[in-house]
Amino acid sequence: MDKRELPIIIDLTKCPPCSGQICIGVCPQGALEEGKNNKPQLTDASECTKCGVCVDLCPTKAITINQSK
Ligand code: SF4
Ligand code: SF4
Repeated sequence: MDKRELPIIIDLTKCPPCSGQICIGVCPQGALEEGKNNKPQLTDASECTKCGVCVDLCPTKAITINQSK
């Protein structure tokens, strides 16, 4: 999928990942799962409501809402 079509952008270079993988745990939609190198990835982009919870709680600000979508 074209990155511009995704509801959120996860900058994996900014994701250590953190202990406990906060974003995966807090997503109310269950839209995030553990991917490569224990870092988050979207399970199903259509599940994400762009609520911003993962954006706000990521300690390294690795996630942003895709404003172009
Ligand atoms: S913006 Fe909300 S719904 Fe989308 S992945 Fe983050 S926590 Fe889940
Ligand atoms: S909350 Fe941020 S640092 Fe932690 S796993 Fe998610 S993207 Fe990575």
